[in-house]
Amino acid sequence: MTNECRFFVPGPTWVRPELLQELTRPMIGHRSAEFKELFRGINANLKTLFSTKQDTFVVTSSGTGVMQAALENCVKRRVLVTTCGAFSERWFNIAQSLGYEADRLDAGWGNAIDIDALADHLLTRRGHYDAVTITHNETSTGVTNDVAALAAVIREESPDTMILVDAVSSLGGMPVLFDEWDLDVCLASVQKGLALPPGITVTAVSSRALEQAKKHPYRGTYFDFLEYKKQADGNSVPSTPSIPHFYALAKQLDHIVREETLPVRYERHRRMLDLSIERTAHFAKRTGDPAHASVTVSAFEPAINPETLRNRMKERGYTLGGGYGEWKDTTFRIGHMGDIPIDALESMLDVLSEVSKG
Ligand code: PLP
Repeated sequence: MTNECRFFVPGPTWVRPELLQELTRPMIGHRSAEFKELFRGINANLKTLFSTKQDTFVVTSSGTGVMQAALENCVKRRVLVTTCGAFSERWFNIAQSLGYEADRLDAGWGNAIDIDALADHLLTRRGHYDAVTITHNETSTGVTNDVAALAAVIREESPDTMILVDAVSSLGGMPVLFDEWDLDVCLASVQKGLALPPGITVTAVSSRALEQAKKHPYRGTYFDFLEYKKQADGNSVPSTPSIPHFYALAKQLDHIVREETLPVRYERHRRMLDLSIERTAHFAKRTGDPAHASVTVSAFEPAINPETLRNRMKERGYTLGGGYGEWKDTTFRIGHMGDIPIDALESMLDVLSEVSKG
């Protein structure tokens, strides 16, 4: 299995062959008893993964669709977007495209959102925002935000404001404690920490968010959380889902929750970050605030041209991630997330060290 893992892009990530196999199973009807059984198993494990007793849904859409859904269901007029890189900025673009009044609290690329800055901002605008968005793990820079602390500040300063969290590149790699952190929507597409092919998104939604959605008469049809809730209560979904993904998700959640187990998985991710830093230190500098270094993805500034480095790796059969946005020309990225075995990462880092010379 290890030999097959040569793909270190920060999403989509390497998919284990037995999960790919699940995608080829015969179809079942999505209103059938078999589907309801599949759905029940998925939802039970999702609640463990999100650490929640509230509702969890699976949406046939990439993560961006559910970011839009979160805004459409929870925001009437005003939203505060916290930004520190390309994906956190995506919330801002979506909010503007929906016609909301969107403010931005920007920490700058490579930094984490500052808790005091958020508290100060909210203090002067108490009750002003319908929602605040947080990107748990900024994939473009390899920085993890302290969602627990940020959410606590929001609850303190503005108790009724919805907290919308993008956990696209954190879920499955580090703890996401939906109930304890008192979040309202938390979403993750499955092609990153959950190591499945792209195409669906898992999400936890609070009862407070569902109440909020009731106040919005024009939520659209496809992403209406209330319809998701109604159907989920009967172990179903509003429209025809990507059934092959449901098979693969069911198998993968069983693996994550019962076989590997969450503590072991999180520890493997911590080890992958440490190895990635240690084994590249002689030829590349990890960028982004070291105090908030992500355990799932790293951006590095190498001594040689990052594109040359990636091409050399390609010649050796390895795919690494390119730099993103503002850091496109100066960095390359390693996705050390999902199901990557430690020894596969070590083999890749050995080759990377070799090709970085000269
Ligand atoms: N948010 C983060 C942090 C991401 O890394 C990505 C994709 O890379 C997205 C959102 C967008 O997700 P999707 O491509 O599934 O729409």
